[in-house]
Amino acid sequence: MIKVENLEKSFGRLNVLQSITLSIETGKITAIVGPNGSGKTTLIKCILGLVKADKGSLYVGDHLLNGDWSYRKDIGYMPQIARFPDNLTVKEVFHLVKDLRGTSHASDEELITGFYLEKEFDKKVRTLSGGTKQKLSAAIAFLFGPPVLILDEPTAGLDPISSSHLKDKIINEKANGKTIILTSHIMSEIQELSDRIIFLLEGKIFFDGSVDDVLGTAKETTLERAIAQMMKGNGK
Ligand code: ADP
Ligand code: MG
Repeated sequence: MIKVENLEKSFGRLNVLQSITLSIETGKITAIVGPNGSGKTTLIKCILGLVKADKGSLYVGDHLLNGDWSYRKDIGYMPQIARFPDNLTVKEVFHLVKDLRGTSHASDEELITGFYLEKEFDKKVRTLSGGTKQKLSAAIAFLFGPPVLILDEPTAGLDPISSSHLKDKIINEKANGKTIILTSHIMSEIQELSDRIIFLLEGKIFFDGSVDDVLGTAKETTLERAIAQMMKGNGK
């Protein structure tokens, strides 16, 4: 379980995250949703320690993290915008991350095969299409079979076949007991994948509950309409 308590983050005068308290359940898929600029990526980066929070505490299990980022070895992260060294080939990027990670881990190459990335192995990263870079990034996030996966807009920019392949992978990994945090703007996708939704709005948690709770409260059958309904009800 990952727990965030009273997390605050500002960039200059902009209060991006205000008193965020939440816990991420082990073995579940938690979706972080909200409009552009609502702080989803910043929240994820605070959990990863890539952005330093101004205030608040972060627990992994019962352990309060205090500058100890060793838990990150258990996380596979797919950033919203992946950057790789431009001059390396796809094959070299895989070698690089395997070298950095060490060889003690068995690697999960399922996405490499599933996305037909072998065909791209000899291409330089800078020549790849956006979608192929996204596939490379996904394949790396899953490569070491981490118990926690943090996926920031994982299907953005993927064609329908690749997107559904990635969603199958996410569902399979959940069945294997993995803890998954993801963000997406596609509400049908969130409805299909997630156990729980944390809705961020203007730096605060606007809603935190199960998909069924959202649908039940709004008396709607699709998440998209239910969320629109909730926001209207709050004058947003
Ligand atoms: P989301 O992922 O929900 O679209 P972000 O977390 O990326 O939102 O951004 C939240 C807000 O914080 C935005 O207004 C964004 O411009 C701002 N922001 C994010 N990172 C930085 C940064 N490093 N410096 C200044 N402002 C930032
Ligand atoms: Mg984002």
